[in-house]
Amino acid sequence: MNKTIFALSSGGGRAGVAVIRLSGTAVRSTLQTMTGKVPEPRYATLATIRDPENKAVLDKGLVLFFSGPHSFTGEDVGEFHVHGGPAVVEGLLACLARQPDLVAAGPGQFTRRAFDNGKLDLTQVEGLADLIEAETPQQAAQALRQMDGALSRLYEGWRTALVRALAYGEAGLDFSDEEVPEDLMAAVKPDVAVVAQAITVHLADGGVAQRLRDGVTVVLTGKPNVGKSSLLNRLAQSDAAIVSARPGTTRDVVKARIALDGVPVTLVDTAGIRDAEDEIEAEGVRRAERALEEADLVLHVLDASEEDPAMFHVKQDDQTLIIAHKSDLNHWQQEAHILPVSSKTGEGMEILLHTLSDRLGLVADAQGGQALTRTRHRQALEDCLVHLNRFMAQTDTVLAAEDLRLAIRDLGRITGRVDVEDLLDVIFADFCIGK
Ligand code: GDP
Repeated sequence: MNKTIFALSSGGGRAGVAVIRLSGTAVRSTLQTMTGKVPEPRYATLATIRDPENKAVLDKGLVLFFSGPHSFTGEDVGEFHVHGGPAVVEGLLACLARQPDLVAAGPGQFTRRAFDNGKLDLTQVEGLADLIEAETPQQAAQALRQMDGALSRLYEGWRTALVRALAYGEAGLDFSDEEVPEDLMAAVKPDVAVVAQAITVHLADGGVAQRLRDGVTVVLTGKPNVGKSSLLNRLAQSDAAIVSARPGTTRDVVKARIALDGVPVTLVDTAGIRDAEDEIEAEGVRRAERALEEADLVLHVLDASEEDPAMFHVKQDDQTLIIAHKSDLNHWQQEAHILPVSSKTGEGMEILLHTLSDRLGLVADAQGGQALTRTRHRQALEDCLVHLNRFMAQTDTVLAAEDLRLAIRDLGRITGRVDVEDLLDVIFADFCIGK
């Protein structure tokens, strides 16, 4: 039997209101002893909240009750909306902790119960985690769609189609050769091919939704004094900046975070990868090299006042964007692949932001909210496709059925329909306490 859990579900620190939530079988009795009654479900009720031991008043606030299974967790849920000061909140939490039927909730435990009770599937749980982490409106919108079950419907739809195909195909296995007019497993192949095709298209999305969820990294490189840090600061002060230019200077690597088309972009200034002479500097170089490896795009900064880009051979590939910086000082012959930019005058900044967004592939086509957001889903779908392709090529009916069963299991793992015990700790570890 699950213990009844409680936690502060609103943020820490001083606030107008703090929400303390409880879930489990002891919710009714707790509300009864602390407020004198169990409020009508789903109606906010003003009550005096008391310590049951000595009747001391802890606060006066709103109390809510949600009767299971019509609650977030599927169990009885109670909420105290109290004044958000440390003494009130801590007093109430300490009082709850003293009660024998209650135990403080661990991270994500409310959501875990919602999952265990079938209120949310795994993609919805992940959507909820993403919503709490969302920094931009676009990220929040994507997370909300996923929480609403956009991905569940898609993946469950495919799964159901395969289950139906398997049932039909296997119907033939119960009969002897003479009785079965045709190979039923072969007959369902066209239906399975439709699902395989849909998965193939879904996988070939270019990773747009995943980039929106995860964010991207752009690394600035170039010789010392070409103006990398000036450029980073200028970008961080542009309209695109979301979080304060976090000058998280960890020796030789400076970061800032901006939002481009709703996608969080981490800008990293490597301060020039040099030959390391001493140990400390060597560490800086290692960090810079690591940043380069992880970069989705490298901004190679040249100094327009010093070098003629025509003379300068910078590695050009899909991963690199070349900038002729300090364009206010010098105008070379324009080269199509090199962007003139000045951090001083702001020249070229708009074009730079557009080009970055374009090169990073940040703008999603309308996908009806059914876009791939996680590597976990991508891997399961790739596995599923392997099994479906094997099924299509299989001539032995029994082996074909086994491949189809494996493909169904792959899809079931995404939504958590089949045994996913091994995944749960990883997924719920992303949550905070009270969620
Ligand atoms: P970093 O070593 O590559 O990070 O270069 P800094 O950002 O420290 O800049 C080096 C020098 O170039 C500083 O004196 C800046 O004021 C100057 N600088 C940076 N950007 C520009 C620019 O767009 N135009 C001009 N004229 N000078 C710039």
